[in-house]
Amino acid sequence: MCGIIAYNGTKKVDSVLLNALKAMEYRGYDSAGVAVFGGGNPVLHRALGEVNNLSEQVLQESFTSGVGIGHTRWATHGGVSLDNTHPHYSQDESVYLVHNGIIENFTEIKSFLEKEGVSFYGQTDTEILANLVAYHLKKEDSLVSALKKTLKEARGAYGLAVVEVANPNEIVVAKNGSPIILGVADHGLILASDVNAIIPYTRDILYMQDGEMAILRENNDYQILNFQGDAKDRPLEHVDHDIGMVEKGDFEYFMLKEIYEQPAVIYNTARGRINYDTGEVKLGGLE
Ligand code: GLU
Repeated sequence: MCGIIAYNGTKKVDSVLLNALKAMEYRGYDSAGVAVFGGGNPVLHRALGEVNNLSEQVLQESFTSGVGIGHTRWATHGGVSLDNTHPHYSQDESVYLVHNGIIENFTEIKSFLEKEGVSFYGQTDTEILANLVAYHLKKEDSLVSALKKTLKEARGAYGLAVVEVANPNEIVVAKNGSPIILGVADHGLILASDVNAIIPYTRDILYMQDGEMAILRENNDYQILNFQGDAKDRPLEHVDHDIGMVEKGDFEYFMLKEIYEQPAVIYNTARGRINYDTGEVKLGGLE
């Protein structure tokens, strides 16, 4: 498990990203990073260890409003290193993204991209995905179309937030198998893997479903689409009880909820580390 965050709004973008990463730190962290867009080149910060290590770097900047994405990593592919820490970017630096999950067929995609002349700075499946989006973006007319093509080719589980550097006012999101919640606050759109990261800003939320994409634009303009690109009408839900209640769902007690969650939690924690076809276990950080 890990956490992704994306923000498009008028609040100080770094504080929204860092607060959200801190709120999601319990999901696992071996490293964390953020990328902020607008006004020239993207600003990328990555740090090993806890989110506080990242905050120390980011707080040296003087960010204002804007667009940003962030991630706390729980490594599945590639060791714990700065190069493998998200956000990742394509070789041509046209695409930045954060990813929660695994891409099962990343080896095939990597070989294809290498034949196309792409080289990689790290070992993650995520970096390969960033390059596949960039590859399609050269031929497609929008990031959404490039992502649609990418998701037809990439197999696996993902929660993704992607930004095209040439169009830094927009974040495109996709979900398949990893949680993503969108919050609509009065100051902007905030999207995260965990509702706890959103509730401090807004109680108007939408749980994205598998097979959905979202486009987050300025001025709270957003759109939910299916993977074919058709717009979907998805009303927001207003959460007026406390976070504990949101998290408890339909269960009477947290303990009961946790008991029922065990299979999913074990599966998610082991995801990308067990090859069910060969029966092998591979721990990326230890090799
Ligand atoms: N597979 C990606 C990686 O190893 C993402 C892992 C995660 O969900 O934190 O970097």
